[in-house]
Amino acid sequence: MSLSLPPLPYASAALEPHISRRTLAEHHGFHHAAYVERTRSLIQRTPLESATLEEIVRASAPQGNALFRCALQAWSHAFYWNGMRPGGGGPPGGAIAALIASSFGTQRAFNRQFVQAAGDQYGNAWAWLVLDDGQLRIITTADAGTPLTEPVVPLLALDLWEHAYYLDYQHRRLDYIAAFLGHLVNWDFVNAALAAAGTRARATTGSAMRRVS
Ligand code: ZN
Repeated sequence: MSLSLPPLPYASAALEPHISRRTLAEHHGFHHAAYVERTRSLIQRTPLESATLEEIVRASAPQGNALFRCALQAWSHAFYWNGMRPGGGGPPGGAIAALIASSFGTQRAFNRQFVQAAGDQYGNAWAWLVLDDGQLRIITTADAGTPLTEPVVPLLALDLWEHAYYLDYQHRRLDYIAAFLGHLVNWDFVNAALAAAGTRARATTGSAMRRVS
């Protein structure tokens, strides 16, 4: 499989006025595209040439090299686009709603913790909602870091690099985070990621039980 830039899951103006067409076009067409292109050039004529992004990330994690960082960024950006949609945000439905209630108490408490974590994280970074041993957790990672190499399941990502919001919000990162939570989060995608995690967990448990019996 040869890596290519996945198209945006919506038109580049679809997230306006919260994220402008110009930001989305540059972010996807320049920044995301560059990470994909650099990853592709670094795996040419190596054993990873036909690997998926997740396989490249796991294989290059011990080195923590340029390939690792580019592959992480390529993966994270696609995950970030899918976690947003026009007319998104607000309170979720489905399984994630109950999990937010059991993990944070209320949606309001979840929002407050997410804004605080993402707002406090200095410099280029990402904020994540992850499933950790059946409970939700909000974490941030500096630079190109992701939770992909940790024993947690990423459910939602927010790009906190300045290129994600500076054209629209300048230094007002908190306004960008508020717009993400209030108008952009694709809770259907989060619910699908949660369901996939449950299926994987059941499959793992099932195979472990079969090995025991
Ligand atoms: Zn970005």
